[in-house]
Amino acid sequence: MSKGTLYIVAAPSGAGKTSLVTELVNTTKYITVSVSHTTRPMREGEKDGVNYNFTSIDEFQHMIGQGVFLEHAEVFGNFYGTSQAWVEEQLEKGIDVILEIDWQGAQQVRRLMPEVLGIFILPPSQKELHKRLTGRGQDDENVIAHRMAKAVSEMSHFNEFDYIIINDDFEDALFDLKAVIRSKRLGLDFQKGYRKDLIKDLLH
Ligand code: GDP
Ligand code: ADP
Ligand code: 5GP
Repeated sequence: MSKGTLYIVAAPSGAGKTSLVTELVNTTKYITVSVSHTTRPMREGEKDGVNYNFTSIDEFQHMIGQGVFLEHAEVFGNFYGTSQAWVEEQLEKGIDVILEIDWQGAQQVRRLMPEVLGIFILPPSQKELHKRLTGRGQDDENVIAHRMAKAVSEMSHFNEFDYIIINDDFEDALFDLKAVIRSKRLGLDFQKGYRKDLIKDLLH
């Protein structure tokens, strides 16, 4: 059996990363998204263990000490981290894993797992990004202003990623995201394992 592929999906906050990834995993087999740990307060509508594992700062620091995290970073004054054991378990089972993480975490993962594929989601304009952050209606004005100011510096890391997807029309962006995953699964590396029996049959 072939191992699953690890993907990073990054974007400035509000570009539509979570909406796209949620739709992708709900309509595609053998792919899952890593649920991060965070010290950020829970938003209305979020569920512990579903959107994030919500954690106290003390607990988070204890977990860093225990070496639980594949990567961790401070984003907008809160801590976020990815569980290494869980990710590896999925990949071993042949399931693709998506990490929805920021550029700092992406750099750490790339160092440890250079085969990771990075996808960067961009909004069609700054104006539209602001509109989406406001329209989401889950952060107060100060938080939105802070996230807008950070968006440009986050986007300046676009050239560290393998694929760029513009989330203007949602369905088009989803199609592009699915195309990346499909194309990787058609690659020789994956097919050598996945189609082993067929290839043996065809070549005997
Ligand atoms: P079909 O190939 O359209 O008949 O549908 P399948 O459900 O068998 O496979 C859908 C896609 O998932 C294909 O691109 C397969 O290469 C891929 N796939 C199948 N099994 C696995 C697996 O265990 N892990 C991963 N990552 N992809 C898989
Ligand atoms: P992120 O996870 O990148 O912070 P979200 O997925 O939460 O972003 O999306 C931010 C807001 O923008 C949400 O209200 C979402 O419904 C909306 N949105 C996402 N993609 C589009 C799109 N293509 N067109 C219009 N609105 C979008
Ligand atoms: P939000 O609070 O809006 O859900 O996420 C804010 C930012 O934190 C996003 O840019 C997101 O990619 C990043 N983030 C979420 N989870 C993780 C994680 O586990 N690790 C890292 N490094 N960043 C994360």
